[in-house]
Amino acid sequence: MRVVVIGAGVTGLAVAWKLASDHEVVILERQSSIGGIATSFRHLNFTLDSGPHKVYSLVPGVLDEMKALLGDSAIAIPKTSGAIVAGKRLDYPVKFSDLILKLSPLLSLRLGFGYGVALLSSFFRRRKPVSYADYFRQGFGVPAYNLVFRPIAEKSFGNPEQLDAELARKRVPYTGVVKMLKSMFFRDKRLSAEHFYYPRQGFVEMSNILLNNVIKDKGKIIFDAEVKGFEAEGSRISAVKFLHGGRMKRIAADFVVSSMPVTVLPAMFNAPPDVMSAASQLKYRSLLLVYILVNKPKVMKDVWTFVADRSFVFQRVSEQKNFSPELGPEGQTVLVAEVMCTANDDAWNSPDDYLYRRVIDDLVKAKFISPGEGLPFHVLRLKDVYPVYAIGYREKLAKVLSFTDQFENFITIGRLGLFNYNNTDHCIDMAIWASKHIRGKKPLSEWIETRKRFDEYVIVD
Ligand SMILES: Cc1cc2nc3c(=O)[nH]c(=O)nc-3n(C[C@H](O)[C@H](O)[C@H](O)COP(=O)(O)OP(=O)(O)OC[C@H]3O[C@@H](n4cnc5c(N)ncnc54)[C@H](O)[C@@H]3O)c2cc1C
Repeated sequence: MRVVVIGAGVTGLAVAWKLASDHEVVILERQSSIGGIATSFRHLNFTLDSGPHKVYSLVPGVLDEMKALLGDSAIAIPKTSGAIVAGKRLDYPVKFSDLILKLSPLLSLRLGFGYGVALLSSFFRRRKPVSYADYFRQGFGVPAYNLVFRPIAEKSFGNPEQLDAELARKRVPYTGVVKMLKSMFFRDKRLSAEHFYYPRQGFVEMSNILLNNVIKDKGKIIFDAEVKGFEAEGSRISAVKFLHGGRMKRIAADFVVSSMPVTVLPAMFNAPPDVMSAASQLKYRSLLLVYILVNKPKVMKDVWTFVADRSFVFQRVSEQKNFSPELGPEGQTVLVAEVMCTANDDAWNSPDDYLYRRVIDDLVKAKFISPGEGLPFHVLRLKDVYPVYAIGYREKLAKVLSFTDQFENFITIGRLGLFNYNNTDHCIDMAIWASKHIRGKKPLSEWIETRKRFDEYVIVD
């Protein structure tokens, strides 16, 4: 039985890894490298990740799978994250002592009053939060929403009143002041890992190991193979069509697993206009990664620091060598600033020089570095990386999936493939379930049930 897997990101590679021992597996990857969104690359004397990536999971069994996969290359790193709030660096998640000692007494009082009002209102409220804004206002009070959650959302995704509450739940999977206060004294495993793991040579090592395992089991990968469409016979897909070396080719398939963006599928299947219209309304946000070289051994105490304030261009800053000292030479370090945008907007089209200037100025303003310390190093533009959970996205996604679900030997999984704002552990979990489904020759109705569990994933910072 031949399984054609579309995409060599973590999801595609993991499903191929799980199936290659007893299936003929062929991976089609549009690019000439693996890892997808979670890749690494060499630039001068540094190995750089496509944004800071850690290995961690709350999904039962998945962290053990990932650690076993990485073997000796996994290093454990104490997780120290920060957040710059009202100009002050606080530990993340926020600690009670930080609120008292580091923010002004007036601000602490306002936050406390806001929590109190939110707590009292929760006794009378019946309606579940609809928007991201509702979720945080109801859970933590208006002042905390305005100070932290609103600016982060505005910088990352746009108007928080138009974003689904699901986005908020994924990032902060609890509401309620009591739990919030508890988390200030005790570390909550659901919110923050104490340690995380990292492949010492760069995050792409995870994908390299997955691919090596696939090849060991006689699986194949075809690079520079861009899938363009499918051939179907009734309710089954019989072949995948792809562009390779300037020619259209086809490969016969008994089963197809796709991890390419779900939004491109309707056009590939010549879907009816209502399905095409639903897909066109599902949007992804893009990411600019601006890498800044500093001629110092180390800059940050944190692996990453969130920066809520809207006046800063980035929403997070990380330091590559805080993940593994082996990623660059002694005496030098690289800071990575994340700037979310929409492909082809002004930020996306800004020249690199402009981005370096903005980021370096803001790194100085936020006191990460002193004037003159930051040097332009590299800019990476990643087009479709964040599914936008705009209110109404569920109905549109359901429409697209109910169309693709008519093919009994086709499933779409992964971050872009299921429009699921997830991490690599979730990709591996999806791949495990998909491989069980295919190996067990189960009916599609069972897969549709299985898929519901993927809605429960949360992101652990
Ligand atoms: C800044 C940032 C930080 C993150 N931090 C973490 C973290 O700390 N920990 C963590 O676990 N996760 C993290 N993630 C999430 C993680 O990167 C993703 O969940 C994961 O990489 C998604 O993998 P995927 O295989 O589903 O999708 P992708 O990586 O998008 O892979 C899809 C693949 O399909 C290929 N493809 C697309 N279209 C076609 C086509 N037509 N034909 C052939 N191939 C095609 C693409 O080239 C790509 O290789 C982070 C993400 C970002 C952006």
